[in-house]
Amino acid sequence: MKSGKQRRLEIKQKRLDRTKKTSQQACSSKASRPLNSVDANHGELEHNNTYGPVPLFYVDIPFECRDCGSDELWTAKQQKWWYEVVKGDINSVAIRCKKCRKLEQQRKVEARKVHLDGLTKKHGEQVGL
Ligand SMILES: [Zn+2]
Repeated sequence: MKSGKQRRLEIKQKRLDRTKKTSQQACSSKASRPLNSVDANHGELEHNNTYGPVPLFYVDIPFECRDCGSDELWTAKQQKWWYEVVKGDINSVAIRCKKCRKLEQQRKVEARKVHLDGLTKKHGEQVGL
């Protein structure tokens, strides 16, 4: 005849075994990874001075363009390129579609040109004095 305490311990042990099994499954199952995911190369992510988690792999992320509101997809490959080749910040994400990104780049180039023009002008005036 088992005491109530022993029985409770057995139940507890069984429950522990079960959680151990499930967590092991969750860790080792690569099958749950999306088909079109791309493995992350952590050696290429070291520029991110972060103690937070870095992704094990990238998956396509749907997003809405900030400027024109069109539905876009930031693909896993583009993310890998951005984080590992361009060394983009791990916390930065795509916010604009290709078209608006181009426009934004042009706007920046234009702004820089205006800024430089202004500097040259100022400089020229100083020289003229
Ligand atoms: Zn757009």
